[in-house]
Amino acid sequence: MIHFQNITKTYRDSRSSIDALKDVDLDVEKGEFLAVRGPSGCGKSTLLMISGALCRPTSGIVQVAGEDLASMSVAHRARFRAQRIGFVFQMFHLLPYLNILDNVTYAASFGRHSEARIRALELLEEFKLDARAHHRPADLSAGERQRVAVARALINRPELLLADEPTGNLDPESADTVLQLLSDFHASGGTVLLVTHDEAAAQYAQRTLRLRNGTIEG
Ligand code: ADP
Ligand code: MG
Repeated sequence: MIHFQNITKTYRDSRSSIDALKDVDLDVEKGEFLAVRGPSGCGKSTLLMISGALCRPTSGIVQVAGEDLASMSVAHRARFRAQRIGFVFQMFHLLPYLNILDNVTYAASFGRHSEARIRALELLEEFKLDARAHHRPADLSAGERQRVAVARALINRPELLLADEPTGNLDPESADTVLQLLSDFHASGGTVLLVTHDEAAAQYAQRTLRLRNGTIEG
């Protein structure tokens, strides 16, 4: 599902340059649940963003879901991201002026608005958020907000879910609920890449990979 070959990502400005990833080789199989751990600054988010076509590597080959990301046009990348990948972030990134239902519906990249709304309502019901559908994010607890973010990530039925510290702002109980949703997605055949520095979170994964200073350990 994800294939990295010799991936290097260098962030440069006029004064300095940082290798966030150095010659990383990585393969994530379709249907796998992989956790990536490591200290702050080791390159976890960079790895996730490259996997999700949110940023380009400086060098190396990256293929996701059988597509070579480097050769895609900008429009193709945007469509690929929207239709085939779901993202969940530590800070939820919900739109504050839209209610919960609209936050989820808005992300749909298929069909008519009415179909998207039905799918969004199904997800909200499944995630026990239907009673909150017409509230704005500010009315919800952190755990509920992250469940909304997972619903949004799943609305297009992606093959791959990329989660960057999704439990970083949650209490242990809410964290477990959110991780269980990722597990359910995995059980239904989805591929999950979970970036976390939380050991408990990593236990939901089948395999854990450690990053240090931009390289994979071991
Ligand atoms: P992690 O998610 O593990 O904390 P990141 O992938 O965010 O690590 O960052 C890896 C390294 O790259 C860090 O040293 C960070 O400061 C640096 N970095 C990340 N993004 C940028 C950027 N846009 N510009 C410059 N440096 C960056
Ligand atoms: Mg990070």
